[in-house]
Amino acid sequence: MATQTFDAVVIGAGPGGYVAAIRLALLGQKTALVDREALGGVCVNWGCIPSKALIAAANLVEDMKHASNRGIFVEAPRVDIAKLREFKDAVVKKMVSGIGFLEKGNSVTVVKGTAAFVAPGAVEVTGADGAKSRIEAKAFIVATGARPIEIPGFPFGPDVWSAKEAVDLPEIPKRLVCIGGGVIGMELGTVYAKLGSQVIFLEALPQILTGIDPDAVRLVQKGIRQRGGAVHVSAKAKGYERRGDELVVKAEIDGKEQEIPCDRILCAVGFRPAPAGLGLDQIGVKLTERGYVEVNEQYRTSVPSIYAIGDIAGPPLLAHKASKEGEIAAEVIAGMKSARDWVALPAAIFTDPEIAVVGMSEDDARNAGYDPIVGKFAFGALGRAVAIDHAEGFVKVIGDRASKLLLGVTICGPEASDLIAEAALALEMGAYLEDVALTIHAHPTLPEAFMEACKAALGEAIHMLNRPERPRKAEAGAAARA
Ligand SMILES: Cc1cc2nc3c(=O)[nH]c(=O)nc-3n(C[C@H](O)[C@H](O)[C@H](O)COP(=O)(O)OP(=O)(O)OC[C@H]3O[C@@H](n4cnc5c(N)ncnc54)[C@H](O)[C@@H]3O)c2cc1C
Repeated sequence: MATQTFDAVVIGAGPGGYVAAIRLALLGQKTALVDREALGGVCVNWGCIPSKALIAAANLVEDMKHASNRGIFVEAPRVDIAKLREFKDAVVKKMVSGIGFLEKGNSVTVVKGTAAFVAPGAVEVTGADGAKSRIEAKAFIVATGARPIEIPGFPFGPDVWSAKEAVDLPEIPKRLVCIGGGVIGMELGTVYAKLGSQVIFLEALPQILTGIDPDAVRLVQKGIRQRGGAVHVSAKAKGYERRGDELVVKAEIDGKEQEIPCDRILCAVGFRPAPAGLGLDQIGVKLTERGYVEVNEQYRTSVPSIYAIGDIAGPPLLAHKASKEGEIAAEVIAGMKSARDWVALPAAIFTDPEIAVVGMSEDDARNAGYDPIVGKFAFGALGRAVAIDHAEGFVKVIGDRASKLLLGVTICGPEASDLIAEAALALEMGAYLEDVALTIHAHPTLPEAFMEACKAALGEAIHMLNRPERPRKAEAGAAARA
């Protein structure tokens, strides 16, 4: 068996692994990057990138439908899904080849095959044709990601799609039941709703998009209802059967058994780590109770030569987190004193309206011992948002009452996913509410809403009335009793 030797080997070429390999190479390490599938991992091949291509196309359909608000009349848009799929595939292909170009240009050796550890310093790689080779290195980064969870009663197949099938756009079903009201379920369900499906969401927990500001969630739910869909919370999907031409999902909704007829089912209840077959247990790499690889703040596992990053190293399962971790692990391997020390890890949800968050919520701030002040500014009062006919939503900032330190930001509305970058920078730089409020923002632009929300928290908003803060309910009760 042929043996190759490198300074570092990265297993998995998703946003964690491909970035780690480039960073290692930039730091002078002789690096190999192993993946059994196309470069780019889940994110590029059937996650972030293709889903956003579909979301943008679906938004265009809706913009066309609503253009009559602005006196522009178009005939009902017709979607040719084969052509849309072709476009999406071309986007993916371009990104995958770009990564290949970057790896090659940085002198990273790309190896195609499935890797498994045979020792703490060696992996065996099996190619698609069964041929095996051995790769030795002083350090390994495991970046093998996560896989969709299959639940009892809903085996993935032509009837029941995972995110992977849903992103592939096999058809636009008339009625789609989406199990799971998390980020991926809500994003993909919304795409199908905009392309013409009636979408029924079933979420087992009492709220969709757990952890997200309820004001933002309400707007997303309103949008789903307006598109003829429905959201059921506290709803457990139990199984389904085929009856003639249709599928019937059995669910317990608020304790009552119900049957929901549909044409396809999307099951998006979460992801689980994908260490299977890597041989991590044989070489003593410790996993957490939930099956993630246990790492410290430098992404070292319990085996000194092995690091783990990205989805396999634990939540949140986000591409930019995986990439940042990849850079840190690469730097540690190259002898730098890097470690996880970020303040701001933003998250963007591409629903309608979009939601993006960074830093603490009001509850997080209270739990961390702060007395939070809140500033909220509605896009309905912002010239740019009104002018582009996307004026739904708000920016909400959380600050520390005593010091006025900015603690967190939630944006719900147009381009929230882009707008959150400024908030992330502000948090990372330790900005105070005044820093943002005093920064001149170009007019008329959407980021002015962030500036105004910070001003609102200080009682200094210009484009809304500054009302004295109402006491919180518990406090109001206590005051009445006193
Ligand atoms: C529909 C969808 C939409 C998403 N949208 C977003 C978004 O908008 N923003 C965001 O931040 N995140 C998004 N995500 C999540 C994002 O895709 C993941 O967080 C990200 O891909 C994780 O990167 P990773 O490098 O850890 O692993 P992955 O991207 O999962 O890559 C792992 C790679 O390892 C390879 N591999 C596994 N085992 C082996 C082995 N034994 N040998 C060789 N290769 C192996 C796999 O082939 C794969 O290519 C989305 C996910 C989905 C499914």
